[in-house]
Amino acid sequence: MKKHTMKKLESRGVRIADLVPILYELQKSYIPNLTEHQCEESLSAVLNKRDIQHIILTGIALDELAEKGMLEEPLLSILRKDDGLYGIDEILALGIGTLYGTIGSTNFGYLDKVKPGIIKKLDTTPDNVNTFLDDLVCGLVAAAASRMAHRNRDQKSE
Ligand code: MG
Repeated sequence: MKKHTMKKLESRGVRIADLVPILYELQKSYIPNLTEHQCEESLSAVLNKRDIQHIILTGIALDELAEKGMLEEPLLSILRKDDGLYGIDEILALGIGTLYGTIGSTNFGYLDKVKPGIIKKLDTTPDNVNTFLDDLVCGLVAAAASRMAHRNRDQKSE
């Protein structure tokens, strides 16, 4: 199912390689000698978790249904215009962010606010409904960052 989740993300324009630089920027001042390879490894590890796969597949499915016009109103219009008062995309994606500890929620909030790299692109593309996808990506990077932070502390205290 990890493969399927990654394929699904790719089909929506998101590759792990797009997320690596965002994660690197987020963590480089906290982890000495951080490498892009470590970032890639952490993102891949996070995608092994079934809960995360489920959340990603659910969010993307809702984006795709909205794109195809296959949801009922008023939900259809809410998703299509990415209504700022609809916070369910954030709530769902925050579930990814916090699976590796509470600091995931601050990382998530930061990414959601600043929208670095591909996150901004996803949020502003007129061609697709990405109401859930941009938040899912924030959640994924936030989870990978939290995982790294906790592992880094573990290694220090060994
Ligand atoms: Mg959104």
